[in-house]
Amino acid sequence: MARLADRTRRIASSPTMAVTATVDRLRRAGTEIIDFGAGEPDFATPDTVKAAGRAAIDANFTKYTPAPGIVELKRAICDRYRADYGVTYQESEVIITAGGKQALYNAALALFGPGDEVITHAPYWPSLTEQIKLADATPVLVRTHAEDGFAVHADAIVGAFTPRTRGVIINSPCNPTGALIAESDLAAIAEAAASRGIWMVVDLCYERLIYDDVPHNIPRILADRCRDLTVLCGSASKAYAMTGWRCGWALGPAPLIAACGAIQSHATSNVSSVTQKAALEALTGSQAPVKAMLDEYRTRRDSLHSWLSADPRLKCRKPGGAFYLFIDVGDVLSVDGLRTSADFAQALLDEQRVAVTPGEAFDAPGFIRISYATSMELLREGTTRLLEFVRAHTAVSTRAAAR
Ligand code: PMP
Repeated sequence: MARLADRTRRIASSPTMAVTATVDRLRRAGTEIIDFGAGEPDFATPDTVKAAGRAAIDANFTKYTPAPGIVELKRAICDRYRADYGVTYQESEVIITAGGKQALYNAALALFGPGDEVITHAPYWPSLTEQIKLADATPVLVRTHAEDGFAVHADAIVGAFTPRTRGVIINSPCNPTGALIAESDLAAIAEAAASRGIWMVVDLCYERLIYDDVPHNIPRILADRCRDLTVLCGSASKAYAMTGWRCGWALGPAPLIAACGAIQSHATSNVSSVTQKAALEALTGSQAPVKAMLDEYRTRRDSLHSWLSADPRLKCRKPGGAFYLFIDVGDVLSVDGLRTSADFAQALLDEQRVAVTPGEAFDAPGFIRISYATSMELLREGTTRLLEFVRAHTAVSTRAAAR
């Protein structure tokens, strides 16, 4: 085959999206699947937001906008962050992007390059490390552990600093673990980073999906310690059930945002004009739908956790945020049965028609991720099938061990 660029060999396509593609293929072939793989809300986009999108089309707001986004939406984002966190950003310090993903990608391209090391915590959402590689930099992983709820510890992150470290990427609430970083750890990392001129990039895509009243003012902590070295990446996708609209944003120092704008202007230009008007309504209109969805996710989280706790071989904690349960299935794996969590996920799909994402997708073999962004009814039925699957496979491996 004709030669492709080297960077195509350094990266892999999104394994989480691969699960979605498999489910889609099976469904189109007529197979009924319970999908616990999808990393997106099952709720519809709120009606007022949809209406704003329709109104934009009817008003012919369908042309190019400035590449970094319309001023009203930038202002709305600044206002939200001021109201929610007490931080002040100007319009020149915001860019509207095609999802949080592009906000993070722009930042990676604008900040990192050959020879640079960028630290993040594992298990991780795979695009974070692939984007670092696309920027020709090197990801450095700091492991977090199930035993302490996948907490990100400041000493572990700071201990990984070298003279080549250019950035730290923190994702909180974290996909796939649901863990929140403690404010004290974030503050300690920020202080150490600031004294060395290291960038702090935070992925706040799940910032509105935090279940308990725990202190989690990431923007304020960073603004107070290292505002000039901070990039906040957010998204309308999860908070407002707007994944398909593609709207996210980055907040940061004006020169960095200008650099992100230059990159974006040659790549994708502006986010859809219609989407920007819809996102404006989402951010400035009633926030009641966000609360309603969060309440429903909390009920599902609690039910799912209690159902799965019926089997001690499925080990997991209640996540503090996002909408995933990250389950240690090590006790179900064996050399002559299901060897890996990838085997587990494949067999679960083949035998019980339940799709989950294997931990391998997040550099965490031995785990599976269940998304509870799906109805209670499907959660109940899928859990019943999962428990049956585990019983069947444990019986097989016990018989094999006895032979
Ligand atoms: N960050 C994390 C941790 C995510 O899980 C996702 C979506 N799965 C994103 C960013 C990006 O989402 P979007 O581009 O839709 O905003």
